Amino acid sequence: MLSTSDFTRDVEGRVITPDDPGYDQARTVFNAAIDRRPAMIVRVANAADVARVITLARETGLELAVRGGGHSPAGHGVSEGGIVLDLGALRGLEIDAAAGSAWAGTGLTAGEYTTAAGAHGLATGFGDMGSVGIGGITLSGGVGFLLRKHGLTIDQLLAAEIVTADGELLQVDAERHPDLFWALRGGGGNFGVVTRLRLRLHEVGTVLGGMLFLPATPNVIEGVVAAAEAAPDELSTIANVMKAPPLPFVPPEFHGRLVVMVLLAYAGDVDAGRRAVAPLRALAEPLADMVRPLPYPEMFPPEDPDYRPVAVTRAGFADSVDRAAAERIVERIEGSTAPMAVAQLRVLGGAMARVPADATAFAHRDRRIMTNVVAMYASPEEREERAAWVRGLADELTGGDPAGYAGFLGDEDEERTRAAYPGATWERLAALKAEYDPDNVFRLNQNVPPAAR
Ligand SMILES: Cc1cc2nc3c(=O)[nH]c(=O)nc-3n(C[C@H](O)[C@H](O)[C@H](O)COP(=O)(O)OP(=O)(O)OC[C@H]3O[C@@H](n4cnc5c(N)ncnc54)[C@H](O)[C@@H]3O)c2cc1C
Repeated sequence: MLSTSDFTRDVEGRVITPDDPGYDQARTVFNAAIDRRPAMIVRVANAADVARVITLARETGLELAVRGGGHSPAGHGVSEGGIVLDLGALRGLEIDAAAGSAWAGTGLTAGEYTTAAGAHGLATGFGDMGSVGIGGITLSGGVGFLLRKHGLTIDQLLAAEIVTADGELLQVDAERHPDLFWALRGGGGNFGVVTRLRLRLHEVGTVLGGMLFLPATPNVIEGVVAAAEAAPDELSTIANVMKAPPLPFVPPEFHGRLVVMVLLAYAGDVDAGRRAVAPLRALAEPLADMVRPLPYPEMFPPEDPDYRPVAVTRAGFADSVDRAAAERIVERIEGSTAPMAVAQLRVLGGAMARVPADATAFAHRDRRIMTNVVAMYASPEEREERAAWVRGLADELTGGDPAGYAGFLGDEDEERTRAAYPGATWERLAALKAEYDPDNVFRLNQNVPPAAR
């Protein structure tokens, strides 16, 4: 067993071991299928603590997990038998409204950051859920409600503070360590532990946003994608084809029936937003229409902290959702016996696509639609059946293309990680990995092993 007394004396943050009453809560991550028991969890207080934890991991050879918001689908925020470096206490947030930027500690969630920035009428786009950690989502890419208007979260990254594998604290931006700055924008946790991020803030006060429920016919699904693609960049949409959950605002006769739940935000003039959303509303009589002017932070509704689903997912990219694809989605979701099955379609483009593919480590700039097929399951015995179903529909939507978004990858094979970082991106990441983390200390992630020297 790891002796912790000397180490505990040296760190300012909190060391949590299996005997600690807070241990079970501290090792819990969003993915309820992950049940790992680390030897030690260190809730670091500052960058010096981060360096100490990295040194301890190197000296003991124990696996190091880096945890922000705990939402990695693969459970990379917790290690079996290793050390968890928990960033949850790094919650500083300095908003400089005049400069249009903020320095944020990576223990913050997207929701916490968005609420604080929203008080100034400002926002940085993250994803579709408030409980995701800002570190994990920013380092992966960040695909959310401001994507078409302002780009990915990485496109808002101005600077970062990072503790590298040798324990050094680096200030990284376009001028200082520009190679590392490139890698951090999409390359995930491969290069070190980011303690603070400086993110650009945009004026985003009231948006026209919320949920629109439409009956899911092939026509409507095809139409939702076409309308979202044709819409101005101010409109970003995330469409979920699923059986309607028993939500109070969906008429009871539609519970369990196939619907498209479109989550959308129009970041601009509200009347122009109504005009942009009109083609979606015209596709069919909405079953529920919750789209209204709202303060941007309300795009993240309150979450149940105990909500921890168990699911198989497969994310990818499609160049179109034509009639045949829409028919397959309807057939497959209708036929699924999973407790919940979803085909998620995110129309990309806009500002995201205007950044050159080699400007950051997120290279899939020209892909038009991000797909994510999800099947929840109730017992481990079901997993295989759900996985086969997910794979089947995902392959039909993507034509079997292994490319995907690193932030949505689960515990998959190297082919998938490589496909998230195609061609030259992989080569460049691997070369930088050899420079900054030659021993692959940061390996519990969508791992890019160091290139051979
Ligand atoms: C329900 C759900 C919804 C999601 N929605 C979206 C979405 O709409 N858009 C989108 O783009 N993504 C989305 N994601 C994906 C999510 O952004 C990534 O999985 C992200 O990595 C999670 O970050 P985290 O800090 O919460 O997770 P963690 O599990 O804490 O961290 C994941 C990994 O990221 C790395 N990491 C995290 N923080 C740091 C840091 N400060 N320094 C170095 N490495 C770090 C580490 O390798 C860590 O193991 C979603 C995920 C879930 C589960």
